[in-house]
Amino acid sequence: MNDIKLAVLGSEGVGKSALIVRFLTRRFIGEYASSSECIYRKRMSFDGKQMNLELYDPCSQPCEGQFSLNEQMHWAEGFVVVYDISDRSSFITAQAIVHLIRELHLGVTKRDADSVVFLVGNKQDLCHVREVSREEGQRLAAEFKCQFYELSAAEHYQEVALMFSKVVRNTSLNGKAKDR
Ligand code: GDP
Ligand code: MG
Repeated sequence: MNDIKLAVLGSEGVGKSALIVRFLTRRFIGEYASSSECIYRKRMSFDGKQMNLELYDPCSQPCEGQFSLNEQMHWAEGFVVVYDISDRSSFITAQAIVHLIRELHLGVTKRDADSVVFLVGNKQDLCHVREVSREEGQRLAAEFKCQFYELSAAEHYQEVALMFSKVVRNTSLNGKAKDR
């Protein structure tokens, strides 16, 4: 059985929990308890193989026994770094996280196309109050060899599912490449 560990990282309020819950339940729920960190587990079949997917959803406020960002990064095999397109400060945080992942040499794959670091601009439905252009997101992703998505946990189930499927797929391929 394959185990896949993904960390979903980014500032408070960017929609990390919303994206995870959307992917796992197909539903968008407006508010989530943010007082506890959580690892969601899901068994899924992927390319005909059974997998145990673990998704780490950090809480924003410091809480007991919390993984540090460093521990979260070392635990994970794949990364979804989220910002909110209507909040520039969240983009700056995402930039710092992506930078740190690369500085620690995490998520390095043989081919850039198989990257296990995904940069996600969420809340695309708020594009009328956009503060971060799509091009800026693309540029940051290209600089750090990340896959790039702009989407909305609120409005797009298909895109959210596709994004998570790709990161699971790339992470599982990368794990196998390392085993050899
Ligand atoms: P987290 O702190 O990163 O886990 O963020 P949450 O998932 O708790 O979401 C923070 C707030 O943003 C909540 O009020 C959500 O309803 C809202 N939110 C999340 N995703 C979207 C989205 O795609 N569009 C809009 N308009 N709001 C969203
Ligand atoms: Mg949350």
